[in-house]
Amino acid sequence: MRSVYDLFKKTLGLLSKYRLPPTPEHYALWYVYVSEENPELNAAVDQSLGKDDQLGPSSAALLFQAHLGDARWRDTQALTASLDALGQELSSTLHDTRQDTAQFQSALRDRFGRLGGIEEGSVSLDLLLDEVRNLVKDAKLMEGSAEHLQNRLQSAEDEVNRLREALAKSREEALVDVLTGLRNRRAFDMELEAMDGSVSLILLDLDHFKTVNDTYGHLLGDQVLKAAARQLSGFVRDGALAFRFGGEEFAVLMKEPLAVARRKAETLRILVSKVSVTDRRTGQKVGNITASIGVAEGAAGKQGLQLVGMADKQLYEAKRLGRNRVMPMSL
Ligand code: GH3
Ligand code: MG
Ligand code: MG
Repeated sequence: MRSVYDLFKKTLGLLSKYRLPPTPEHYALWYVYVSEENPELNAAVDQSLGKDDQLGPSSAALLFQAHLGDARWRDTQALTASLDALGQELSSTLHDTRQDTAQFQSALRDRFGRLGGIEEGSVSLDLLLDEVRNLVKDAKLMEGSAEHLQNRLQSAEDEVNRLREALAKSREEALVDVLTGLRNRRAFDMELEAMDGSVSLILLDLDHFKTVNDTYGHLLGDQVLKAAARQLSGFVRDGALAFRFGGEEFAVLMKEPLAVARRKAETLRILVSKVSVTDRRTGQKVGNITASIGVAEGAAGKQGLQLVGMADKQLYEAKRLGRNRVMPMSL
């Protein structure tokens, strides 16, 4: 049987290997992964890790949401603190046990040394019995220490389960957009900051969407947003990530040069123009959905905001020049 401590160690190892911040969600994700109690989760995580063996925060959030409940953020602080405290307590219990073990070993060595001496020299039964008695006493102490550790580990496991349930229940904004199921703006910010090197950003804004709402109603507007999001999900591959950036704005991040991103943006523009939604009640069809798109390439990480600014500028140009187009026009 794997001990909770083993699971802890492996969980912490994976957290640091994939450089995910030690939030309760990440903790729970890896904890369940190493415990192998949810094969579907393991398969999905392995698939997400993919060839490049990487897992960004928003992929982790999607996995958490899909397999472990809602990745919600309320109580995150408190839960993180609980996990920290738990980890610290466990490690101090382990430390104590290790110290007890070391003391026991050195006592054993002493006593066996003395017993060896007795064997060679004059045997005093009293002395021999004394040594045996002491041995038994030490062994009892050791047993108590191991039992204490065992109990702590058991309650640690209970605690982890309790925290996992609390996490699944907590209700607040996640990294996933509720309407479309895409990663949300918060995920975008996290992801962009976590990336390094040069990346391309496609910023897409649906054209005259207010008119769509005004004409067909907000609910049908929502259906259009969902349909557009589905096109985006089908569109991203090879490590590119799709986000709902804001109301009727979407974003795609990719590690491709600007020319490639621009070409892909053109494909995306055509995909969105194919969106069509039918109002089930009235049979009315909403089509002719178009999008304006700005593309830019720049440094990710802390300077990511500049990249957003550049793509936004191109998007604005696309609107200004009449919408339903990708900017920059040519490279
Ligand atoms: P433009 O071509 O200049 O982008 O015009 P627009 O009408 O798309 O832009 P504007 O910013 O004026 O309006 C955006 C609209 O998107 C208004 C807002 O009600 C709508 N919207 C934002 N979020 C949602 C949503 O979640 N559901 C629906 N149905 N509409 C939304
Ligand atoms: Mg807009
Ligand atoms: Mg718009």
